[in-house]
Amino acid sequence: MRTKNYLLLTPGPLTTSKTVKEAMLFDSCTWDDDYNLDVVQSIRQQLVELASAKSGYSAVLLQGSGSYAVESVLGSAVGVTDKVLIISNGAYGSRMVEMAQRLEINHCVYDCGEVSLPDVHWIAQLLQQDSAITHIAMVHCETTTGILNPIENVAKLAKQYQKRYIVDAMSSFGGIPMDIAELNIDFLISSANKCIQGVPGFAFVIARTDALEQCKGHSRSLSLDLYAQWRCMEDYHGKWRFTSPTHTVLAFAQALKELSEEGGIAARFQRYQQNQQKLVAGMRALGFTTLLEDGVHSPIITAFYSPSVPDYQFNIFYQHLKAEGFVIYPGKVSQSDCFRIGNIGEVYERDIDTLLVAIEKAIYWKE
Ligand SMILES: *Cc1c(COP(=O)(O)O)cnc(C)c1O
Repeated sequence: MRTKNYLLLTPGPLTTSKTVKEAMLFDSCTWDDDYNLDVVQSIRQQLVELASAKSGYSAVLLQGSGSYAVESVLGSAVGVTDKVLIISNGAYGSRMVEMAQRLEINHCVYDCGEVSLPDVHWIAQLLQQDSAITHIAMVHCETTTGILNPIENVAKLAKQYQKRYIVDAMSSFGGIPMDIAELNIDFLISSANKCIQGVPGFAFVIARTDALEQCKGHSRSLSLDLYAQWRCMEDYHGKWRFTSPTHTVLAFAQALKELSEEGGIAARFQRYQQNQQKLVAGMRALGFTTLLEDGVHSPIITAFYSPSVPDYQFNIFYQHLKAEGFVIYPGKVSQSDCFRIGNIGEVYERDIDTLLVAIEKAIYWKE
């Protein structure tokens, strides 16, 4: 085990601050007011405030990684007589489809491939053709490629056709400004270890209160019952139904404080965007090509085609960068040979500068 940390250029877990890690040096009691009232309730309140300036929303925290919360929402929000349209253009959209299959949830899928944005006119047509659809679910930043999906346009359709709207904003919430009331989002899902810059261990759902009320009795799972988890947190002042990830929660409270100190989501968005633009410009100067066009790109993670250098192997490239203190991410796109570099977390422009120097050396490095 290395004692010196490397920089995680991956979209979660990501590099956290020393102070976030230090916040975990305290053992909390799961039923004491110090923890539930002061920490958990305050986190729930802050999440709601970060999500919208308007009222009518509530936050539910749930043990597990981000996928647990996505599965909890699908399994609790979509009732037996309902039907969800899942819009997919990557691995996380496909994961929602897999969940719907496993849970035997009525669903239909609009898959527009991995490198294009969904066509809003086509979605409107699907909604017109199939009146059984009650919910629309999609991913905001599809971390597979870094594409940023048009949640604003789909929000308009959800409102026009009166559908419940579920958004996996796992890798964007906290890093890209949005107001979920303006966007008509009923359920927004994210997790502790992405743009809020906490450590892994739980996920959260920020939902319209009336939409949460409607989840009662729907859940196909006991531990992933969103309604039951919400009621417990509401009725017992921040209490989790089952053992809560106490240390992770303390780290998250500190991460929220640091987000505010940085200047909030708008300031963090700026930093991420500067990181990403610097990265792309530097990589292009080294001869790399991005998988996506600039216009559809998020400021979160970027996919690059593997370099056309003789004998290039991702693993060697990866190991060399790791030795220099940077951990990058393999590709996840099925059709193209890529690797990915994330720029969220405690990552600053100076880190991107050092990374680019290391990449230039690593491309031509052989064993
Ligand atoms: C990270 C992520 C998830 C959740 O992945 P987990 O490994 O379960 O935390 C879901 N959707 C998107 C878009 C993500 O980036």
